[in-house]
Amino acid sequence: MIDRFETTPLPRRIPVTVLGATGLVGQRLIALLAEHPWFVLAHVTGSARTQGMRYGDAVRWRVETPPPSAALDLPVEPPTPAASLAGHIVCSALPASEAETIEPLYAAAGALVFSNASAYRMAADVPLIIPEINPDHLAALATQRQRRGWSGALVTNPNCSTIGLALALAPLQRFGLRRVLVTTLQAASGAGYPGVASLDLLDNVIPYIGGEEDKIETETRKILGAWSDTAFAPIPADAMRISATCTRVPVRDGHLETVSVEFDERVTPDDIIAAWQAYAGEPQQRQLPTAPPQPLVYRKDAARPQPLYDRLAGHGMAVTLGRLRPCEVLDYKFVCLSHNTIRGAAGAALLNAELAYARGLLA
Ligand code: NAP
Repeated sequence: MIDRFETTPLPRRIPVTVLGATGLVGQRLIALLAEHPWFVLAHVTGSARTQGMRYGDAVRWRVETPPPSAALDLPVEPPTPAASLAGHIVCSALPASEAETIEPLYAAAGALVFSNASAYRMAADVPLIIPEINPDHLAALATQRQRRGWSGALVTNPNCSTIGLALALAPLQRFGLRRVLVTTLQAASGAGYPGVASLDLLDNVIPYIGGEEDKIETETRKILGAWSDTAFAPIPADAMRISATCTRVPVRDGHLETVSVEFDERVTPDDIIAAWQAYAGEPQQRQLPTAPPQPLVYRKDAARPQPLYDRLAGHGMAVTLGRLRPCEVLDYKFVCLSHNTIRGAAGAALLNAELAYARGLLA
């Protein structure tokens, strides 16, 4: 079980529906919600394969700790919203194709929907949030509600590799970030369950993940950009060039990324490490339950970070950085690691929900 951070208990916990609760991200959400101080698991949904079954019978549990007993007897429901879901949180772990049609139904019924899926991440009125970086993008919800006529709303979290990269880059923006080269070594669990066949992945590296490189390049610009009144203003491609190569490796959990960066200003390694170590945002100021006290951890050891040893830093919510050194082509290079189903998915959605709740958006 992932330990909780200390918080003040509320008189009534807010009900949460998990869409796609039987998948890898859905399971992480169920585990993270088990002892959540503000939220309580109320409903779980699945596909036609599992609807009507008891959750404990439907799920192939793949989290290291046992499934929470409160979830086991819940019925797996179809993803059909009740007539009114005002004041209700929905965390979506649906495939993008299903999310596209199902998530708007929940937002229209009044729920605040926090989605892991890519379907709406780049939509003009949907915030793509990493709470440490761009909590102000939640202002887009007023425009979203006006345009779409929803009483609820839809908030997304980024692709699992984008999250680690964007968190590593955000404190470096002050140095005039000009160019970024990133190569990812992504874990098997990033492909969902059952994911890539073992005979394709064992003893192998697959140098292609469909759609992933474009997501890293475009999502990072939206997150590090601004929201100005009625529209997002992503960082233009000619102001910050990002080039990504994505590979799948036979690691269970944890996406490793090798990154090279170029700056406008002269920067020393100490400047970069100090910027990472001092980095904190609204989740830390508000002490949100899922927020790590230190979102970026720099390790000086020569051969770190490693997925096996570093993916659970900050209860899976911290990004571990290491191997900062000069780059012969750009200015510096480093290695970055984040847990793809916790900081990269379930924990990210939950942190977004906590941020929205703490800002009074659930009233
Ligand atoms: P997964 O293991 O394949 O789980 C998919 C879930 O969606 C299952 O609960 C499945 O239910 C349900 N589902 C599938 N088709 C459905 C349908 N037609 N109607 C209703 N429910 C349906 O996938 P995952 O890895 O958890 O990923 C979930 C989402 O998060 C995806 O959009 C993915 O891109 C995104 N994401 C994943 C990661 C990661 O590291 N895995 C990271 C970031 C974002 P049944 O089990 O009942 O079939």
